[in-house]
Amino acid sequence: MKFSWRVVALWSVLALVIGFFFWQGAFAGVPADTGKNTANTRMTYGRFLEYLDADRVTNVDLYDGGRTAIIEANDQDIENRTQHWRVDLPINAPELIQKLKQKQVSFDAHPMRNDGAIWGLLGNLIFPVLLITGLFFLFRRSNNLPGGPGQAMNFGKSRARFQMEAKTGVKFDDVAGIEEAKEELQEVVTFLKQPEKFTAVGARIPKGVLLVGPPGTGKTLLAKAIAGEAGVPFFSISGSEFVEMFVGVGASRVRDLFKKAKDNAPCIIFIDEIDAVGRQRGAGIGGGNDEREQTLNQLLTEMDGFEGNTGIIIIAATNRPDVLDAALLRPGRFDRQVQVDAPDIKGRLEVLQVHARNKKLDKSVSLEAIARRTPGFTGADLANLLNEAAILTARRRKEGITLLEIDDAVDRVVAGMEGTPLVDSKSKRLIAYHEIGHALVGTLLKDHDPVQKVTLIPRGQAQGLTWFMPNEEQGLISRSQLKARITGALGGRAAEEIIFGAAEVTTGAGGDLQQLSGMARQMVTRFGMSDLGPLSLESQQGEVFLGRDWTTRSEYSEAIACRIDAQVRIIVEECYTNAKKIMRDHRSLADRLVDLLIEKETIDGEELRQIVAEYAEVPDKSQFAPML
Ligand code: ADP
Ligand code: ZN
Repeated sequence: MKFSWRVVALWSVLALVIGFFFWQGAFAGVPADTGKNTANTRMTYGRFLEYLDADRVTNVDLYDGGRTAIIEANDQDIENRTQHWRVDLPINAPELIQKLKQKQVSFDAHPMRNDGAIWGLLGNLIFPVLLITGLFFLFRRSNNLPGGPGQAMNFGKSRARFQMEAKTGVKFDDVAGIEEAKEELQEVVTFLKQPEKFTAVGARIPKGVLLVGPPGTGKTLLAKAIAGEAGVPFFSISGSEFVEMFVGVGASRVRDLFKKAKDNAPCIIFIDEIDAVGRQRGAGIGGGNDEREQTLNQLLTEMDGFEGNTGIIIIAATNRPDVLDAALLRPGRFDRQVQVDAPDIKGRLEVLQVHARNKKLDKSVSLEAIARRTPGFTGADLANLLNEAAILTARRRKEGITLLEIDDAVDRVVAGMEGTPLVDSKSKRLIAYHEIGHALVGTLLKDHDPVQKVTLIPRGQAQGLTWFMPNEEQGLISRSQLKARITGALGGRAAEEIIFGAAEVTTGAGGDLQQLSGMARQMVTRFGMSDLGPLSLESQQGEVFLGRDWTTRSEYSEAIACRIDAQVRIIVEECYTNAKKIMRDHRSLADRLVDLLIEKETIDGEELRQIVAEYAEVPDKSQFAPML
């Protein structure tokens, strides 16, 4: 909704204030109600004196401390009828009183009207009152928005920002593909359900468990499942929510959280992104962050402050255990670490099974095939994938999710939204040659992953795409596989150069080059796969601002740096020569594939291999088939 309550509230306050001033101007101040008929007509002071001199004034009432007078006089024009006028008097007119006495006009001075004073007082009060009410209203509204200015009102009071779920309703069955983690955490459920079992034999129940793993692997889900299985409440907060702009707020949030938890024990406290508060103290550029350190200290104090058998277990999640303050990991705090990784192919199948439970799948869909196609996907990615497929199915008005929707959803999750293909043109032909270059080199090299499909339908940034069967399952990658990948990545540029000439090559290969340069460099500096020998010349670098290990940099001299560059160049040049040779040797095959690709927009891997087989021997690539 674009319509904002804050704007409405602001305008109402303004309108009230402005309205009030108008109203006050109309009623307060000058005597409006004189008891005599309202004196609407004004008379100048000079005229008034003339009237006085002419003895036509019969009565004068002074108001406003002598600044205004209502006079009663005979009007010449209307046959001496008595009329009232209002006259503004000059401030210094003492002679007026004299004159009135002298002329024996009856006159009276009226005090400042009392209700006028009240109005004046109210007028003075109402404005600030309205303002404060308005501001209060604004702040209360914006308080609901995270990060809104409303925090200013909460300063010191710390509306704790944690969520509490009395029953999470999540069971271990809902968590799939991370068996080891699940097994380790089964025990925590027993701690919560039957603590006597452990305390009887003198065992200390752990207070904190640290779940370590990338986002989306199911850490939150796992913590909820523990609470769900044990039937205890679940408190959760994110580390980043502890750290606010005001010093002291984080610490008081920690206090509040633990207080609430103690009242509800046994229970689970889940702290997501604990690295946001738990980073090494006093580290990072520009020294420490007082607020964060105070929060962390408070957290440590609270963790030490309760006995292990209170029934509170704190589960924290992070992707960077290496940056955590050592004090957090000491015994009695987060002394258990459980690794939660992205699932392997079997795990992915299980996750898919969990999330397919409530979805209508067509019989043709095999979850195994999806699991095979999605290496590197986390549980959250897979859940998202099935959901995306279900949305597509609904949009296409189908009964159940078919392979087509799954495929489209995978492509979309991996490579972004589909664009409209180019019309046939020179640049479309160039893109086609570029993609066929990748596909052909990839197919003809024995150590390259098999092609899954080639397409000219743009997606995300890419104008065309060549998809390979992913094979990240096999943990170790050989030198010849790395070289095959570099050669395949150069296939696009090689095709452009061979077909269109060196002057016509395009920027389209930029992404490829970046990728392959990285690979070649790692072969030299990390994997010892060059003439420099088996040396590790670069340690993995953490981001500078994360504290710790930002001093570990490349530990080699300028001379070695030159040799590294030379080795990287040798690898890439060798691969490029090879890629160009493949393109030159299979020119007519490439031409045929490009024609087909332009006609069909997409060629799948099987068809591609059949056509290639008519021209050349296609190496056996069974080593890439992932095992289930
Ligand atoms: P994390 O806390 O590790 O970032 P979440 O637990 O928030 O990840 O996961 C987000 C969602 O992804 C979950 O609610 C669930 O639907 C799905 N998901 C993630 N991992 C798994 C898993 N191992 N099994 C089943 N579903 C999962
Ligand atoms: Zn490319």
